[in-house]
Amino acid sequence: METTERQHYWLPVPDRTGFKWHRHAFRGKYWDGRASDTSVCGKPCAMAKPSELDWFQSPTCPDCTELLIAEQSDTGSTEQPRTASPEQSDTGSAEGEQ
Ligand SMILES: [Zn+2]
Repeated sequence: METTERQHYWLPVPDRTGFKWHRHAFRGKYWDGRASDTSVCGKPCAMAKPSELDWFQSPTCPDCTELLIAEQSDTGSTEQPRTASPEQSDTGSAEGEQ
């Protein structure tokens, strides 16, 4: 059962300097008020309730984005690519051709 682990949420968190904020992805359904956690991209982050301005001003972490996309393409088997088979048109030459 890996369904719960695949869930993630985004939260703006300050980096260690406290000046720059980034919106990182974290494992789980939603932020439960914990003081710190490790982001999807592997950064230990101090967490605090973000203001609307934090959401607005924090750029989304590109590493988290990439990792989540990579995970999706790894396990995302909901959409099976239908392989077209163009060879079929090649087999109908029983008669009429010499
Ligand atoms: Zn990140």
